[in-house]
This record gives sequence, structure tokens and C-alpha cells, in this order.
Amino acid sequence: MQTIQLPRQIVNKILAHAQTREQQEICGLISQNKLNEMKIFPVTNISTDASRFFEMDAAEMIHAMKSIRNEDAELFAIYHSHPTTAAFPSAIDIEKAGYPDALYLIVSLNTTGVLELKGFKIQGDTVQPLELVL
Ligand SMILES: [Zn+2]
Repeated sequence: MQTIQLPRQIVNKILAHAQTREQQEICGLISQNKLNEMKIFPVTNISTDASRFFEMDAAEMIHAMKSIRNEDAELFAIYHSHPTTAAFPSAIDIEKAGYPDALYLIVSLNTTGVLELKGFKIQGDTVQPLELVL
């Protein structure tokens, strides 16, 4: 299994973001520059059924992608939360995944007391779990 190293501060920011909306999915992007420095870009979930789905606000996403390019960085990961289900991509997550090179991070709030964070590559219909080193 491929191993991905995630800085603690990035993990903490994803978890903190997820905890701001415990009943709704939250989402965002993470960039990585040539020095392997990561940066988090929270994006508003505009889904009309945000308890079960996420849809990134297009303008915010474009703005984040521009910032990432301007900083000479690359899109490293796309994260979102699952308020009531396991940290595994849903059928819709797999269908909508458009970045085969990016890491898909999913936080589950389902586990009592402990947030669960898992990482995947999604290429077509294939979901490959990655080992996260936090
Ligand atoms: Zn999902």
C-alpha cells in the first residue's frame, strides 16, 4: 500500500473544519508546493442536501485553484467529511471524482469520540486505499 505523509497541522485543520458542521459534509482542497509544504483551502459546500453530499462552490474552487497555481504549487488532495457514514468513498464520490492524481481524504464523524481520516486514490471505478502517516 502506498504511504502518504500528512503534516499534523493539516490534519488538525481538516478535523477542525469538519467539527464546525457536524451535521453537514464539509469540503476543501489541499495544495503542495515544491518544498512539500501543504496548504489548506476550505471551500463552501453548496449541495442542497449537504448532510449526505458535497458540491464545491465553483467560484471559491476556481479562486483556490488560481492561488495554488500562483504559488507554483499543485493540487495535492481533495477532502470532505461524512457526518454519519464511514470514511470510505460513496458511489457518488467515485462517480464524481475527476482528479485521478489527487488524494481523496475523507473524515468520518460517525465514530463516537474519535474522528476517522482515510485517504484514497480514485481512478475511474477503482478505489485504492492509501496508508496515511499522521
Ligand atoms: Zn463522500
